Formats: sequence, structure tokens, C-alpha cells
Amino acid sequence: MNIQRVMVIGAGQMGSGIAQVCAQAGFDVKLNDMKQEFYERGIGVITKNLTRDVEKGRKTEEDKAAILNRITMSLDLKDAHDVDIIIEAAVENMEIKQSIFKQLDEIAPEHAILATNTSSLPITEIAAVTKRPEQVIGMHYMNPVPVMKLVEIIRGLATSDAVYQAVEDMTKKLDKTPVEVNDFPGFISNRILLPMINEAVYALYEGVATKEAIDDVMKLGMNHPMGPLTLADFIGLDTCLYIMEVLHEGLGDSKYRPCPLLRKYVAAGWLGKKSGRGFYVYE
Ligand code: NAD
Repeated sequence: MNIQRVMVIGAGQMGSGIAQVCAQAGFDVKLNDMKQEFYERGIGVITKNLTRDVEKGRKTEEDKAAILNRITMSLDLKDAHDVDIIIEAAVENMEIKQSIFKQLDEIAPEHAILATNTSSLPITEIAAVTKRPEQVIGMHYMNPVPVMKLVEIIRGLATSDAVYQAVEDMTKKLDKTPVEVNDFPGFISNRILLPMINEAVYALYEGVATKEAIDDVMKLGMNHPMGPLTLADFIGLDTCLYIMEVLHEGLGDSKYRPCPLLRKYVAAGWLGKKSGRGFYVYE
């Protein structure tokens, strides 16, 4: 399967990054969002990233112009009528994703692959609303997309080998490293990362150590670039809680129960960096 034309749904944090790396690799990209201002915000971020690359000598002005030229605005899902793959990066909500996939299934060419960047929702359940579940797959990028090497490729129950292979080949063209994962709650990344963060919150909750001490142990002792409580603040404590709930419910094991302190912070509106306060205070 030869992928050339790409559509990315959602020009937010992840969608704009995905559009950028696809355009950098030479793919033609339609970047879709609901309103022109959302598209413009996304393309603004891409332009800023590319300008920084030019300043640092990693790209030329010509590279930057060519990359931006490959990205076009889309405000209508009907624009999916002539693409080879659609990578959905809209909000993390099953109803919204299923509605998008249902529409894309009607619009996209028969051969087109429908991929989702979901971080926690079951691929199989998204695929079930389409008439082509064998062409539905998870393509889970890490944040920030232009920097991070990993793409978790998640096979839904029905995903075909040919579709898996096409997505793996595309990922390599993006200069990313694909890792094959099956469709279970949290995939691999969040199934391991979030319980570690949750355990750090328990250690704080039980008074084992201060937040700074917990972060120092993991930074200096385990060589993590940032401590788990700082990382939680960056991810957003509401997102951390949500993913722990997905693991707890989906796997049914009490070892995944979210820490009460995490619940309390979220209830207080202390969501981390984005709200100005989480485990730490941000100016
Ligand atoms: P975001 O809020 O920054 O962006 C979402 C964008 O989707 C917004 O611009 C919104 O206007 C648009 N959108 C919403 N509904 C739409 C629709 N029906 N059609 C078209 N556009 C629509 O969110 P994000 O952080 O970029 O996350 C996007 C997806 O990526 C989520 O599924 C999330 O779980 C996943 N993800 C996020 C991260 C992360 O660190 N932020 C990492 C991996 C995966």
C-alpha cells in the first residue's frame, strides 16, 4: 500500500505536530479542524517550530517554505475523499471519535486507512462503528511530536497485517521508531508510566517523602529526565486521573486504583502546569 496523501483531524497540540512531521517527510497533508481559527493556531505552532529549526541551522528557509506548502487547510471532513490515510487527533472522547470515524468511513476512499492517536480509548471499539475495522489502527505519537522518536502502533482486534505493515513503513519514513502493541487498556506507554506516577502520588500521600525528594530519587537515581510528580504536572493531573480510571476499569485490578490525593487535586482544580498549580506552583 502506497501512502502519499494524509489527512490529520484536529490541529491541536498533537495534530499540528503530526501534520508537521508528515509534511517534513514529503507527504501532502490536509490539516482539519472545526474552525479556521483552530487551524490557524495549529499552523502558527508549526511555523514557529520550523523558524526555530532555521535559526538553529537544522533547516533552510527553502525547506521551511516547502514544508508549509505541503500543508493545506481543511474545515470539512469531506476533504477526506481523496486521501490514503487519516490520522485522527481530536479530543479524547469516545463519542466524538466514533462520530468522526463513522463519517470518515462514508467519505474516505475504499483503500484508505483510518488511524487514531488516542492515548487510552480502545481501538477495537472505535473500529466497530466502521465497515472497515481491518483498516482501523492506533498510531500513538508522543508529545512533543517533532521531537519524540516513538510511535506506538496499536492493532485493533480486526486490524489486517497489510494495514499494520503500511503504517509501520510510514512511521519509518517519518524518521520515527514504530513499536507494535496489541489493544489493551493504556497500551504499553501509559500502562507502565501512569502506575509509576500514581505510585509517586501514593508515596507523597503516605508521607514517605516530600515531593522534591520523590522527584530527586527518580531523576538522580533512575536517570529520568524529570521526576514523576513534575511529569504529572506537565501531562495534566486530570489526564493522569482519567488514564488511571481507564486502567482500573479496563483491567479490573485494584492495583490500578487512582490515589485519593490525585482525585483531591483534580477536584480542587489543581490540574498541574496548565492551571498554574499541581504538585508544584507555576507562575
Ligand atoms: P488538543 O485539545 O490540543 O487538540 C484537539 C483539537 O481537535 C482541537 O484543535 C479541537 O478543535 C479539534 N477537534 C475537536 N473535535 C473535532 C472534530 N470533531 N473535528 C475536527 N477537529 C476537532 O488535544 P491534543 O492534546 O492534541 O490531543 C489530541 C488527541 O491526542 C487525544 O486523543 C489525546 O488523547 C491524544 N494524545 C495526546 C497527547 C498529549 O500529550 N497531549 C499524547 C498522545 C496522544
